[in-house]
Amino acid sequence: MTNIDDILNKEHLDYEDIVMLLSIEDKNDMQKVFDKALSVKANAIGRFVYLRGLIELSNICRKNCLYCGIRRDNYKAIRYTLFHDEVMESVRLTEKFGFGSIVIQSGELLGDTFIETLESYIKEIHQKYPELLITLSCGEQTPEVYKRWFDAGAHRYLLRIESSDEELYYSIHPKDENHSFKARMQALTDLRNTGYQVGTGVMIGLPNQTIEHLAKDLIFFRDFDVDMIGMGPFIEHSETPLYEKRNLLWSLEKRFNVSLLMIAILRIMMPTINIAASTALESLDNQGRRKAILAGANVVMPNVTPLYKKKNYKLYENKPGIHLNPWESLKSIHDSIENCGEHICYHNPGIPKHFRDRTNSI
Ligand code: SAM
Ligand code: SF4
Repeated sequence: MTNIDDILNKEHLDYEDIVMLLSIEDKNDMQKVFDKALSVKANAIGRFVYLRGLIELSNICRKNCLYCGIRRDNYKAIRYTLFHDEVMESVRLTEKFGFGSIVIQSGELLGDTFIETLESYIKEIHQKYPELLITLSCGEQTPEVYKRWFDAGAHRYLLRIESSDEELYYSIHPKDENHSFKARMQALTDLRNTGYQVGTGVMIGLPNQTIEHLAKDLIFFRDFDVDMIGMGPFIEHSETPLYEKRNLLWSLEKRFNVSLLMIAILRIMMPTINIAASTALESLDNQGRRKAILAGANVVMPNVTPLYKKKNYKLYENKPGIHLNPWESLKSIHDSIENCGEHICYHNPGIPKHFRDRTNSI
C-alpha cells in the first residue's frame, strides 16, 4: 500500500492520492503534509504573507442560502449598509496600515442603486489610492456589471462555488431560480473572461459532505485553473435552516483539521496561487490563521469594517474579533504571523504568481 511519504513525493496528485491525504487522522502524518506544503510554498513563492483590508459593505442579501446568517429570511439579523464616509474611512485605514489591497464584500444585491453606488466607490478608491488593488466579493451579477466594476478599477473577484458537487450544492441552497448551480459555474467563467483574477472556494464540513466531495473540489480548482482560493470550515448558525442538520456535522476539531489539510494539499497541487487563511478558522482555534499560514496559506484579511457595524455581519456563530478595532485586528495578526518564520509584505498587492504566469503579465 502507498504510504504518505510516497504520495508526498509524487509530481502529480491524483484523486486517490488526495482522498488518502484528506483522510489522515494521525497528528504526525498531518504534520508531514503541512511541512511539505510549507516547503512547496517557500520554493515557489517564498514565505510571504499578504494582507487585505476586509470591508463588509452591506449585510442585506436577496438570497436565502440555507447556511448563512445574513440570508434574506433571517428576520432577526439587524441590517445595515455602510455609508460613503464609513467606506472611505475603512479604505483610508487600509492604506495607512500598509495593506496592499482591499476586499469589498457584501450580501448579493442587484439593482441600479447598488451597482452604481459600488461603481462610484471603486472609481473614488482607485483615483485616491491607485496603488491599492480592489477585490470584490458581491455575489453573482451579470457580465455587464462585472465589466462596469472592472472598468471602474476592481481587478479581483471572489465567488465561492461552495461545493463543486451539484447535488451537495442543492442540499445547502433553496431549489429556485435565485440559486442555480449552473449560474454559479457560469459566473466564474464570466469573471475569468472579463479579465479578473478569479478566486473561488468551498465550505468544509457541511452536512452530508464527504472526503470524496472535498477531493473533487480540489480537482475542480486545479481544472478551472483558479488564481485564488478562500475556503474554511462550515460553522452553523442557529437562525438558519441548516441548523436542523447539526447532528450530522463533523466535530469542530475534524472540520478544523480537514480545512488545514485542504489548504496544504491545494498548495502542493497549485504552488503559485494565493490561498487565504479564512476568518472562520480563527473562530475554531485562536491560532487558526497562523496554523493555516504554516500549512501553505499566504493571505490574511484583517477586518477594517467599523466596529459598531461588523458585529451585524454575522454569517455564523462566534464570529472572531468582533470586539477588535481595525488596529487591534492588525496587531493580533502581525504578532501571530511574524514570529513563525513568515514575513508580512506591507504595501504590496500580492498578485498571485499563478495569475502573472497565466496571463503573461508582469
Ligand atoms: N454574498 C456573497 C457570496 O455569497 O458570494 C459574498 C458574501 S458571502 C457571506 C461569503 C462567504 O461566506 C460565502 O461564499 C460562504 O462560503 C461563507 N459563509 C456563509 N455562511 C457561512 C457559514 N455558516 N459558515 C462558514 N462560511 C459561511
Ligand atoms: Fe447572501 Fe452570500 Fe449569505 Fe448566500 S452566502 S445568503 S449570497 S451573503
